Amino acid sequence: MKKISAISFAAIFIIALALLYRKNLYTENSYTESREAIGTVVSITLYDSPDNIMDEAMLQSICHKLFDEANRLENIFSSKISSSELSNLNNQIGSNVNISVSDELYDILSLSTKYCQLTNGAFDITLGNLINLWNIGTDNPTIPKDSQLAPLIELNRWQSLILNQSTNSISITTGDFNFDLGAIAKGYIGDKLKALAVKNGISSGILSLGGNIITIGSKNNDDHWTVGLTDPLYPDSLIGTLSIKDKSVVTSGNYERYFMEDGVRYHHILNPNTGYPAENGIISSTIIGDSSADCDALSTGCYVLGITNALELIESLDGYEAIFIDSLGNIHSTSGVDAYKFTTN
Ligand code: AMP
Ligand code: MG
Repeated sequence: MKKISAISFAAIFIIALALLYRKNLYTENSYTESREAIGTVVSITLYDSPDNIMDEAMLQSICHKLFDEANRLENIFSSKISSSELSNLNNQIGSNVNISVSDELYDILSLSTKYCQLTNGAFDITLGNLINLWNIGTDNPTIPKDSQLAPLIELNRWQSLILNQSTNSISITTGDFNFDLGAIAKGYIGDKLKALAVKNGISSGILSLGGNIITIGSKNNDDHWTVGLTDPLYPDSLIGTLSIKDKSVVTSGNYERYFMEDGVRYHHILNPNTGYPAENGIISSTIIGDSSADCDALSTGCYVLGITNALELIESLDGYEAIFIDSLGNIHSTSGVDAYKFTTN
C-alpha cells in the first residue's frame, strides 16, 4: 500500500513542529493550541464565525475554557488520579452501600452500561484491576501469571452495577472490582468540549484528543474536514483519509500503547474473556458517528469483538460507520463508509 506523499508528510511535520515549539498558532481566522492533558496530547483548533467577529484573544479565551473543562472532567473520571470521584467510588466498591455520584459520573456510567450490553461485554468498564495488573503504558508493564489473571476474569460483572436515576446514585450488588473508563472518557470529554465551544459561539473547529477526532461544523465554515487514519502497520504514516463534517472519528489501535517481550506485542485493549490483549484479527478499529463517546466505546468494543461480529454490530446501528484493519493490513469497512469518501493513500 502506498504511503502518504512526501509533500503532505512535510506539511504535517511542519505544523507538528510549530505546535511543538510554539504550542499555539494564530492565523487570520483560526486559533490552534496543543497541550498535554487528560493523559494524552489534546489539540484544539477554533475558527472565527462567518461574520468575522472573533479576534485571537477571543478564540484563545474559548480555547482555554475548553482545556479547563477537560481537566475538570479528568478529575472526575480518571482512575489514575487518586482524588478523582471515580477513585473514590472504586474505594467504596464492596461496601454494599448506595453511593451518590455527580451528574457527569452518573451519565458516563449509564452510557457505558449501554455499550457493555450492546457489545455483549467486549467493552467492559469493570476491568480496572486487570488493567492495573498489566500496567501497559507505564514504565513497568508485566505479563501476569495465570494464577493472577484467573480471579480477575469474570464475565458480565458490569451487570452488578445498578443505576438509581431518581437519586442519582448507584449501588453494586456483588463483587470486588474497579471501574476503568479509559475506553470511553476521552470521547465523552470530547463531546462536552464540543458542546462548550458551540455554547461560546464557535461554529467551526476540530478537536483531537489522542486518537479521538471531534469536528464542529465544517472547516472554516465551508469545506469538509480531512481526517487522516493512522496505518497500524506503519504508525508514522497514514493509511488513508476521510472527509467529514460535524462528526467524530475515533480509532482504537494496537500501536497506541503496548510493550514488546520476546517478539510479542502486548497492547492495551484487553479481552475480558481471556484477560490478555485482544487478538481477534483487528489491529485498528475506527468508528465514525455523531457522538464521540459512542464512537469511543464502540471502537474499543469492536476491537475485541473481531471483524465479523464488529461489522455485524455496526451495520445494525443507525448513524455509525466503521473501518477495521486486520493484521495483514487488509481493510474491512461498513456499507455506508463511502459517504465519507474514504480514500487510501
Ligand atoms: P481505547 O483506546 O478507547 O480503545 O481504550 C483503551 C483503554 O480502555 C485501555 O487503556 C484501558 O484503560 C481500557 N480498556 C482496555 N480494554 C478494555 C475493554 N475491553 N473494555 C473497556 N475498557 C478497556
Ligand atoms: Mg475507546
